[in-house]
Parts: sequence; C-alpha cells; structure tokens
Amino acid sequence: MESKSLRTARRMRALEPSATLAMAARASAMTAAGIDVIDLSVGEPDFPTPAHICRAAEEAIRAGKTKYTPAAGIPQLRAAVAADYSRRTGLAVSPAQVVVSNGAKHSLHNVFTALLDEGDEVIVPTPYWVSYAELIKLAGAKPVLVETRIEDDFKLSPAALRAALTPRSRMLLLCSPSNPTGVVYSAEELGALADVAIERDLAVVSDEIYDQLVYDGRASVSFPTLRPGLEHRTVVVAGVSKTYSMTGWRIGWTIAPEPLSKAIANLQSQETSNPASVSQHAAVAALTGPQECVAEMCRAFERRRDFVVRRLESLPGIRLPEIGGAFYAFFDIRQPLERMRSAGIGTSTAWCEALLEQKHVALVAGSAFGAEGHVRMSFAAAEEKLAAGIDRIASFLDAS
Ligand code: PMP
Ligand code: GLU
Repeated sequence: MESKSLRTARRMRALEPSATLAMAARASAMTAAGIDVIDLSVGEPDFPTPAHICRAAEEAIRAGKTKYTPAAGIPQLRAAVAADYSRRTGLAVSPAQVVVSNGAKHSLHNVFTALLDEGDEVIVPTPYWVSYAELIKLAGAKPVLVETRIEDDFKLSPAALRAALTPRSRMLLLCSPSNPTGVVYSAEELGALADVAIERDLAVVSDEIYDQLVYDGRASVSFPTLRPGLEHRTVVVAGVSKTYSMTGWRIGWTIAPEPLSKAIANLQSQETSNPASVSQHAAVAALTGPQECVAEMCRAFERRRDFVVRRLESLPGIRLPEIGGAFYAFFDIRQPLERMRSAGIGTSTAWCEALLEQKHVALVAGSAFGAEGHVRMSFAAAEEKLAAGIDRIASFLDAS
C-alpha cells in the first residue's frame, strides 16, 4: 500500500516549477536528442565570464580560499558592493548594509522571508518575473497582481497602485529594467510610485539586477535615490549574474538598512551559510576590476535589441513595448492567437508548445509571467541565432 509518510507539505502543493528553467531544460533535452533547437527561452548572457574574473577564482582556489566564510559574505565583497553602488548612485552605503547570497533569486527569498508575515499583501505589477509570486507565497504572504498594459509600455501607474492597496498591503515589488518586458521606468515615473509608497508606508523591493544593461544613452536609476529617506524603506536586490555574465557562479546581494541586513544575515546563517567562497572572490574581481567588459556586452545587447525589434515589428499582428534595457522582447500574440484558435492553439502556452514542436524554437509563454496572450524571447544570443529563430517564427505565423 502506498504510504502517506512522504506526502509534501501544504506549502509545496501550489508551487509551480520555474517556467523559464523548465523551458530551457526541455530545449536542452531536445538538442541532446539531435534536434536543431533554437533556444531563446532562458535569460542568460551567452558571453563567457570575462577572463580576469575566472583568473581571480583560480587564484582563490590556489590560495586555499575554499573554506566557510562569514555567512553574509567576505568583508572584501561586501565592501566592494557598497563602494560600487555608492559610486554609481551617489548614495552612501556601508558594507554592513550588504548581504551576499547564492544569486539574486536567493536574495529575494531572504527579503520576503525576513519581512513578510502570513497574509501580508505584496503589490506585483504584471507581467512579472516568474519567481516573484511563488517566492512571496512560500513566505506565507499574498502576491496582489496588478495588470499593466502594453499601450502603457507595461508600466504601473500611481493610480493603479493606489487602487490595489488595502489595509494588508505591506510591500511594492518593482523591477526596472524589467524582466520580462525590457521596459525601463523613467526617474519621474519611479518617483511618482515612491510618493505613494511613502504616503502609504510601504516597503519597496527594487530588483535592479539589470541596472547596467540600459540602452539609448539612458542612465540607470536606483530607486532609493529618488526621494530623501527612501533608503529607509527600500531593499535593492542585484548581483553579478547578468552584468558580468556570471549566472552559474551564484552571487547576488541585498542592500538594505542595517537592522534588516542583520536579520537577513541571521536567516542565511541558518539556512545556507555563506555563498560559495570561490565565487565570492570572483565577484570581488568583477566589481573592482576593469569595467570595459560590461560596456562591451551592453553594446552587443543593444545591437541585438535593435535587430530583434526591427524584425519582430515587421511580423503581422505582433506588438512590442519600448525595450530600454535587459535582454527580453515580450510581445503580444493576441492577433495571431485569434487566427490559430480554430487549429486548437488558443493560449500562449499552446502557441509556445506548437512553435517548439513544429519549428524547434523555444520561447516562454506569457502566462508564466502573469500575462496571457504574450510570449517572451530572450535576445541574449548571437545575431545569427536570433535571425534564424525569427525566420522560423515568421514561417510559423505564415502557416497559421
Ligand atoms: N531577478 C530577475 C528580474 C531576474 O531576471 C533574475 C534572473 N534569473 C533574478 C532576479 C535572479 O538572478 P540570479 O541568477 O542571480 O539568481
Ligand atoms: N532570469 C532568467 C530568466 O528569467 C533565468 C531563469 C530563472 O532564474 O528562472 O530566464
């Protein structure tokens, strides 16, 4: 008889797997089976980690820096994060305000666990990055999804934010440059949201992991710099994964007021201890070494953005918001879906399934980001691959 002893906890039952990672795994399995798949699903820079960063890791291994470190990270890295952030934003931050974790995803988990009580509400504008809603629910809190429209470049307005607030509202979660839309809020737009956060005493989590990947001469804006005192209610989440093409090294961080940073460090000391020691030394080299590699990668992403936007906009019925940063094109497929409904393709998931099966192109369905009727393409891939992928999408649309 089947035993119930290993039935999963209630909190696991509604937990969805990460749709981005699931799609990437599926594309890899098809490639391993000999199929020529163009994988534009996962958001991961395709460049190698710069050589000087890898050398720093090798040196750390040779020097025996392979033991436990303080749970919140080595002092050099916390200092490097604080100095880099202060230099770029003009906001003075101390190393004690920085907690280094196993990737920015872990940092987000830490913040939600450290701040949210059962039933607290978190305002999450949709489309949102896949893991936000699940991580908030794991912390026992409730994501309140607030729809934004492509006509407004998927930006949350102060009025929509106000309308979503209740006495249980505790936190506003923002991501600019955005995954999945690539949209970048202006300082004025963020400032207007900051005013509501101040008026209604909300905590703000600002996911700034794409902060250095902005195009068309934009300057990246860090949320706490927008109004005096905002740093007392804001947690900035960032890391090296995207900026330095270091996704596998698993280093991210939070910048928060000191008492909250202490709480996060305590949590981490019990849950995971320190992030990998060698990766931390590599991250110090990333932040303190030459920065030309960042500018170079950013220029490449901008060229690819130009290419992808030009090609996608020429496809019938496809609409895009203005992509100002990150490396995603999130496009509206509602018109093609209308035409395909009679062929049994009525949702973004079915559309992505059919595209993968018929044309061997992997994208991620908008439903995973809380925005049915759309799909996400990562353009962190070589231009030939993007060109071939879009050709296949065009022929998929033609056939419908
Ligand atoms: N936030 C956003 C918006 C992301 O796109 C990602 C990428 N996975 C993360 C956080 C997590 O980054 P990391 O790989 O450092 O965990
Ligand atoms: N942020 C990337 C993405 O959205 C990585 C995948 C993930 O961490 O879920 O594709």
